Amino acid sequence: MPELPEVETIVRGLRRILIGKKISSVRVRSEKVLGWPSRRFRKALEGASIREIGRKGKFILIAFDRDLLLVTHLRMTGQFLRVPREQAVDKHTHVIFDLEPGSLQLRYRDVRKFGRLGVLTGEEPTIPLLKGLGPDALEISAEAFFRNLQQKKRAIKPLLLDQTFLSGLGNIYVDESLYRARIHPLTRADALRRDQVRELHRHMRRILDQAIKAKGTTVSDYRGPEGIVGGFQRYLRVYGRAGEFCRICGSPIRKSRVGGRGTHTCPGCQPLPPHPPPPAKISS
Ligand SMILES: [Zn+2]
Repeated sequence: MPELPEVETIVRGLRRILIGKKISSVRVRSEKVLGWPSRRFRKALEGASIREIGRKGKFILIAFDRDLLLVTHLRMTGQFLRVPREQAVDKHTHVIFDLEPGSLQLRYRDVRKFGRLGVLTGEEPTIPLLKGLGPDALEISAEAFFRNLQQKKRAIKPLLLDQTFLSGLGNIYVDESLYRARIHPLTRADALRRDQVRELHRHMRRILDQAIKAKGTTVSDYRGPEGIVGGFQRYLRVYGRAGEFCRICGSPIRKSRVGGRGTHTCPGCQPLPPHPPPPAKISS
């Protein structure tokens, strides 16, 4: 699933391709990925010009003239691809945008069809999911991060994955951040000391910045819109490395489950806290 660095990379790529372009026509091949009936979706976007492209958490926001906002969440396998009009359309392409001027298309492709594209207008200025989104992981200050964590009794890992608490992080960057800050994923958020939170904040920011520079992490089929493959996977120290040896202490990296998610830790660097919170379970 694309996380903040991948979505940021996609947004930067889309900016290069799309700003100033007009959508001359829209073809919807599967309505399932739309939050709207396809006719209304087409009518809203045809003839609209792209002004700005941004990101909120893992949502991609494309702003048009006419007070329109196209909001996309790629979920597991969603991709935006820029291709020449004459290129064959494969069965996983669900929405096709013809761009003007030029002869390129923007295609929304999604093998598992969990991603969503929705249009917001002046009348429907927001959607509940976007409204409830927590502060962005790249924007929150260390102090605010500490204050917010102090108010939560939950285990740190599921909390960092909760997009209403903090937006942008997913499994890869949470595991990497906790490992580098030497915090066990089951540590209660309100039990973290200020210096531990500072370390966590510093590593989280650093990892996200590095991953954006590397154009994201490619673990399955993530691609930037220009077909770019991310390069951050070679910097991963625990994620996907179960059984390999920790670079710091030499212990074998362990894979377990925390809050239902595959979790990578070093048992030497991240000892289990004395009083883990009850709701999350750990098992091998
Ligand atoms: Zn270690």
